Formats: sequence, C-alpha cells, structure tokens
Amino acid sequence: MHNISLQDLYLNDSELLTAQQHTVDYLLSLDAKRFLYEFYRTANLTPITSEGYQGWERSNEINFRGHFFGHFLTALSQAIVESHQTEIQNELLEKLTTAISGLSYVLANSEGSPGYISAFREIALDEVEGYEVNQEERENVLVPWYNLDKVLAGLIATHVNLADIDHEVARQALDLANSFGLYVYHRMQLLPNRNQLLTIEYGAMNATLYDLFNLTNDNRHFKAATYFDEFELFEELSNDQDVLAEKHANTTIPKFLGALKHYQAIDKLLGDEAYLALNPILLENREIYLKAAVNFWDIVVESHTYVTGGNSQSEHFHQANQLYYDAENRQGDCTCETCNTYNMLRLSKELFKVTGEKKYLDYFERTYINAILSSQHPETGMMMYFQPMGVGYNKIYNRPFDEFWCCTGTGIESFTKLSESIYFYDNEANTLLMNLYFSNTYYAREHNLYFETVVDRTVGKVSINVKAIESEKPTKMINLKLRLPNWAEQQDFEMNDQKQAMQNEDYWLATVMDGDVIKMNWQYKLAVSAAHDNPAYVAFTYGPYVLSSRLGKENIDAYHPNGILVRVGTQETTYQDYLTLKKKSFCPEALIEDYQVLSSPDRLFEIELNNVDEQIKFAPYYQAHNERYGIYYKIRHAQEMLAVNNENRTVSLVDLSLFDGNNSEYTHHLEQHKSEIGVAEGKTYRQANPGGAFSYRFDLKRYTGAIKVILTLHKEDVDSKLNCSIKGDTTIAQIIAPIAIETKEPWVKVEIEATVTTNEPVRISFSTDASSSSARLFGVEIQKVTHE
Ligand SMILES: [Zn+2]
Repeated sequence: MHNISLQDLYLNDSELLTAQQHTVDYLLSLDAKRFLYEFYRTANLTPITSEGYQGWERSNEINFRGHFFGHFLTALSQAIVESHQTEIQNELLEKLTTAISGLSYVLANSEGSPGYISAFREIALDEVEGYEVNQEERENVLVPWYNLDKVLAGLIATHVNLADIDHEVARQALDLANSFGLYVYHRMQLLPNRNQLLTIEYGAMNATLYDLFNLTNDNRHFKAATYFDEFELFEELSNDQDVLAEKHANTTIPKFLGALKHYQAIDKLLGDEAYLALNPILLENREIYLKAAVNFWDIVVESHTYVTGGNSQSEHFHQANQLYYDAENRQGDCTCETCNTYNMLRLSKELFKVTGEKKYLDYFERTYINAILSSQHPETGMMMYFQPMGVGYNKIYNRPFDEFWCCTGTGIESFTKLSESIYFYDNEANTLLMNLYFSNTYYAREHNLYFETVVDRTVGKVSINVKAIESEKPTKMINLKLRLPNWAEQQDFEMNDQKQAMQNEDYWLATVMDGDVIKMNWQYKLAVSAAHDNPAYVAFTYGPYVLSSRLGKENIDAYHPNGILVRVGTQETTYQDYLTLKKKSFCPEALIEDYQVLSSPDRLFEIELNNVDEQIKFAPYYQAHNERYGIYYKIRHAQEMLAVNNENRTVSLVDLSLFDGNNSEYTHHLEQHKSEIGVAEGKTYRQANPGGAFSYRFDLKRYTGAIKVILTLHKEDVDSKLNCSIKGDTTIAQIIAPIAIETKEPWVKVEIEATVTTNEPVRISFSTDASSSSARLFGVEIQKVTHE
C-alpha cells in the first residue's frame, strides 16, 4: 500500500477546506526571508532582512531556532500540492523558492563546514555531543539536532512534493539535503559520546536520514542515520518491555518511526551485497527494528493513550495504565501534547503500509479527528499545544508571529496534508482503499475513473459514485476496498440498490466500474470509555467523535505560562466534574443506555444523557472552541470505587523526574552554574560539579500547609553529598546523602518535611562544595502531607 497522488484528490468537506485555507493564509503571512536571517548570520553572510523572528526562533535567549523554518518548508510544499488553485499555488511556490534559493546561497557562500546549513553555529552541536563549551560561546539552542531534523525533513518534502511541479526548486532542495546528509555523516565519524547524543531530543533524525538514503541510495546517508538509532531501547521494546515511564514522549515517538524506516531501508540495501557483507549485523538485527516499532505502538495505544488518541502529561509518558492519575492528580492542563499525535499518525501510517493491519487505520481516524482537527481554531486557524482531558478547561492557541511552538510547526504540517491518508492504493492488487470518510473527489486517472464521495457526518451516511472521467474513452476496472470502522457495530450497505453482505469485520471489497453507486449508513452509537486505573473515570464517543460537555464562555482566554514561552489553558474548578447516575449501582454502561441526540446550530449534533441527574449537553470535542469543556467525568454513586482506587495514593502536588536541560526543567525555572545532566539506569539526573549549584521553582498552585519533599538519589552515591535548601516562607537547609541500603532497586528516597504558609512558589536549591561533585539528583516530588 502507498499514498495516492494528492494532486488528483479534491477535498469537499467544508470543515477540512476551512482548516486548510486558514493554514495556507497563515503560511502566506509568514516571511521566508525573516526565517533565513539566522542562517545568513551563522554563515557569516549579511542577512537580507533587518531582523529575524522571535519566540522559539529567537537567538538572544533559550531557543529552538530553525525548527519552524523546517516545518514551514514542509508545509509550503504540501500546501502547493493540496491547494489546487493556480494563483495560490504560485504564491506559495514563490515563498518556497525564496526559502530554498536563500539556503542554496548560504550553502555556496558559507565559510563554515561544507554542507552545514543551520540557524546556529556548530558549537551548539558540540555542546550536546559532550564537548566542553564555555558559557559565553553557547548558542542557547536547547535541542539543536531536533531543529536540524526539521530543516532536513523540509528539504526532502520540498524535493518530493515539487518533483512534478518545479524541477529546479526540487533539484536544489535535494542538493541541499544531500550535502547536509554528508555533513552529518562526517560529523558522526568523530562523535565522542554517542549516549550523550541520544539523550537529547533529536526529532526524527534517524527517520529523516533514512528517507534521504531512500532518495539518494548513498550508503553514507544510511550510515549517518544509524548513529541516531537507539538500539538498546529498540531491543527493550522488541522484548515487549514497557520502559516508557518518565520518558519524554515527543522525543521517544520519532525514534520508533526511525526504527521502522531502518527496517524498510534494508530492502534497498539488499541490492548492495558488498555493503551487507561488511555489515552482517544489519540483516541479523533487522526484525528487532520492526518488532520494536510494532510493540511500541501497541504499548502506547493500549496503556498510555486517552480517548482522543493523545498521550503524555507534561510532555512525558508515565506509568502504564495510569491515565486517571495523570490527568487528575498531576497537572491536568498539560496532557496530550499535540506534536505527539502528529508523530503517532506518521508512525501509524507507516506501520499500516508495512504490516497491512487495520488497527493502525482505526487509530488514525480517531486521532485525526479528535486530536488533530480538534487543535485548530476554526476562525483564526491558530493551533494548540496541550489538550486537557478533565472538566472545566479552555483551549489555548498559539499567537501567529512571536511564539512558533513545536505544536504550531507540526500543526502547519498536519493542516496541509489533510487529504494524505484518505486513500491508499495497492498497485499489485489494483486496489483503492478508502480509509477516512470525508466528502471528496478522487481522480484515478490511469483507470479513467473518478470517485465522488459525499459524507453526511452528522449521521454517518456515505455515498460513493463511480464515473468515467472521459466518457468517450474506455475505463479500467478497479477494486474498491472500504474500511469498516471499529466503532460501527452494524452498517447498512448497498451497491446499485442491492443490499450487500459483509465479507469480514475489517473491510468491504468489490470490483467497481463506471456507473456504480455505493451507499453506506454507519449508524452511530454512544459508547463509554473508562480509564484503566479508575473505572469510574469515563469519556464518551458517538461514532468516531469524542464528546465533550458544553460549559460556557467563562474566562475563555485565560491562560498561564508553562515551559519555554508556552501558554496553557486554565481549569475553572467551579464546574462540576462528576455525573450522578440515577441508578444506584455502579455500572458505566448504565450511562449510555438512554440518551437523546439533538440537532445543533453550531455542532454536528448534541447529546443528552437521560440516566444522570445533571443536564449537560455533550457535542463533538473537535468542534469545541470559544467555550469551556470537559471530556473525562467521574461517576458519582461509584464513589466507593473511587475511594478504593485512591486508598494508596498520596497526593502529589508537583514532580520533576526528567532532567533534560529542556522544557521539563525550564518549566520549573531551572537556574544553574557548573552542573550537568546525564543518564544512569535509564533515568536522567542533574548533578552539581565542584563548586556548582542548581535550583528549581515549584508552583504548588496556591496550596498551603505541610509538604513532604521527596528526592530520588542513587544508592551508589553514598560518598557524595548534596546540599539542599528549601526556600518558602522559612528556609530549611540540609545536607543529604543517600544511605547505603540493600535493595534490588538502585534508588534511594530522601524525604524532607516543610511547611508552606504563603501562595508563593517554593524554590529548592542544590549545591556542593568546591572539592567534589554532588550526589546525582534523579527526581523531586512534592506531596501534600495529609493527616486523617
Ligand atoms: Zn509540540
């Protein structure tokens, strides 16, 4: 199975068209030259504008510069293919041409290393690869390989998407990608510390280099990619071990896209016996890469995924099957980073192409609607970062010109490839597979046939008309395969007015020709989905749509800052976060036994539950904008269940368990000098070097009272010390050291009790003396001390 040509596919769904149009308008409002500003400066060339962009693209403070430019290239190239309007295509192409020729100029005239095209100096790479870099030399680029991956991916997308549209721009883009790929290859030969490289977010650097290899057939690009394969992690996942707890989700997901691309790239190498003879390990290990990607996907979707298809809390995976705890007892405003779903969709699509398994398509539909479409404001076209799952939240969208978040970058990509996975085509079987049900027209030109699909999404009615493109010419038959969605328990199916029997649960397949008419009625039903760790914590779906409650517009624009320049929605806790079952017994199914579907002026439909005391209207979450909403509700009369579930839970106020030198630490306002991060036993830590110190600020969300600060240390650090001071209204200073204990686990927990009497955040500082390094700090957790 592979993707069809998007030039032959026309979207007719009004919501998808609006989403696409907003994104095109946004792309056209951005200035390619301003993005090039830092690229020129880095190459010692005079920039063509007086200034660059700010936000994550800034250079004066911690930044991610270059990343958005890479997304911009990809999105422009996709929009050119998808837009179908010559005038708009020309405007988009002009921007893309400016961007690519700017980069070509930089490549030709730079005094830096051959092939190095970047918005920051190479010293930023030195830093993450384990070289000593002086403070004043630093570039403040947190995750340089991540940013470079986006640029390389943008060049490859430009080459692929423009191949039939503008040969010259397509050729230049490949030249740039090729040179950069060789730069990476040469740089990797000198890499001092591979483990260090792999700990710092690098996007899909392995996947992107395998894509490049796929285009160039240059083994050096393949080799360069392998440096970014985290084989130890792949082995763990290939053994079905869920080692995801506390890993940064958006760092981890693309690694497995890379694993899968590695597996696919071996196909190409099979023709190169000489290379394989030199590297026999490639064939030996090949299946591990596939298994790793397959198992990773299963683990994420089964044990770490909310009803919308989203995952993570504060950008991290946590313990398996703990979604209730993560959404309600950790910071609920930071669940489900949108980038993660963009990457899970990429992985799902590729896994489907390799394995043919339908479960990837079912997940694709759920996530495409409820995590991607849900993230864009239907009037402004701006996009979300986190998507809260609890009750009382609002949606917060990026500002267009001074933020440039990761999720805005992946967002402009998602909304310029909305039609990409509607169909797949299998050449050998001459089969067209319809995956997503949105109104569209597709021209199968080789067959002289077109498919006009009209979908009434309010009720789930689909009709497909097959017609000849040129009626006077012969047509060629084609097999049409329709995905039967996993949420549709029964469906009415007709072809040319004849009722159709279903061949199996997954697909309906028939040979079709000019004049055929297929009609389907999916019959939506209300379904309930509970969290693994709390059967009384539930969300609802109706057909493919996740529902959310309609709660009103109170403080609709309120937000608070998070991480680096990120803004997140707020929770109005005045809204009731439970539903009261009229039946006294606990049974989530009772919730959906009796309900009404109502028509709505601004949503596909609204639903009212008849078996609960509350009169709350639910409607599709993806359409929830300009109002507060709730997705997961607690069920009252199931309080006993809740109590049982919470019995052994301590109430955590805040925790820090990932020392990434990135968003995780900067969310807590990291300040440091002479300290470093590292990894041991699969966990990250920060450690003060002799004379060094570091500190974090923890926001306890207006909590006052007794707290317990729990520090996680390593039992091997018995001879090291860590000075710790907790600065609240009074300062507690302690010198702590792990105590040697005989446990299987390497961790030692040290607890410090304190009292907080003001609403101010608490700062906790760590330091060591001038003669020795501190003990390594693997985690900080602050808990409420509750005395019953
Ligand atoms: Zn993101």
